[in-house]
Amino acid sequence: HADGLLGPAAIRDLARQLDLRPTKSLGQNFLHDANTIRRIVRTAELRPDDVVLEVGPGLGSLTLGLLPAATAVTAVEIDPRLAELLPRTVAERRPDLAGRLTVVEADALRLSGLPGRPPTALVANLPYNVAVPVLLHLLELLPSLRRALVLVQAEVAERLAAPPGSPAYGVPSVKAAWYGRAHRAGNVGRRVFWPEPNVDSGLVALDRTDPPPGDRAATFAVVDAAFATRRKGLRAALARWAGSPAAAEARLRAAGIDPSTRGEQLSVADFARLAATAP
Ligand code: SAM
Repeated sequence: HADGLLGPAAIRDLARQLDLRPTKSLGQNFLHDANTIRRIVRTAELRPDDVVLEVGPGLGSLTLGLLPAATAVTAVEIDPRLAELLPRTVAERRPDLAGRLTVVEADALRLSGLPGRPPTALVANLPYNVAVPVLLHLLELLPSLRRALVLVQAEVAERLAAPPGSPAYGVPSVKAAWYGRAHRAGNVGRRVFWPEPNVDSGLVALDRTDPPPGDRAATFAVVDAAFATRRKGLRAALARWAGSPAAAEARLRAAGIDPSTRGEQLSVADFARLAATAP
């Protein structure tokens, strides 16, 4: 490709250079379709002055698409072989943009800071088994992120973007809503990955908003409790969290919530208000 993007032949070639057998537990499914890359970058709606954080650059498929669209890209990769290869791949295919790239070899879940300018946008094809915890950790760690566009399993995309009261609404939906407004931003079929995963994928965009008033950790604790026993009304589901069913009922009433409602009906602001009631 004239723009340096990686197609199937280039991906095969890079994998051969590393003698790479993609690791399932690290969610190593690499994009090999230039049109999908262009679509993801377009959907990210980057500004020229954006500093992009990419988690899991892998062989560099998305990285090569992001570099022309941003002022800098910081790529965090857990696999040392991939972290080492990436600067060379970029230097070969886009020598003009290589100066924009910083590669950090690290586990994104354990990240406690980043070198360089604070990132303003997260754009990533996330490793599937840790997609939600990685997304939440980075939104919490990096308040400079104003937008996130992530590619995740279709089912996870649906959960992240689900509004209160909808069937897919659950813990990931509420926690994501603490940080911003999430919406589905497109579907991506399994054929554009090597190796091909067993499920289709979806894009989710999240635009940061101010969190509701309240304490994040206390709010997340009541969210976890409310969804732990899905079919129960909140009075029963929150008995252990509150100390007793009566205490749960009192706190629900203090927050203006009907004790027979189920967690699926509450917004993140409702949960924050509930967490703030006196025990
Ligand atoms: N961005 C590349 C692409 O689109 O082709 C690769 C995406 S692949 C789905 C996920 C990548 O995340 C892999 O390169 C994998 O090694 C990396 N990875 C997995 N777990 C990680 C973690 N905890 N922190 C950072 N990178 C991780």
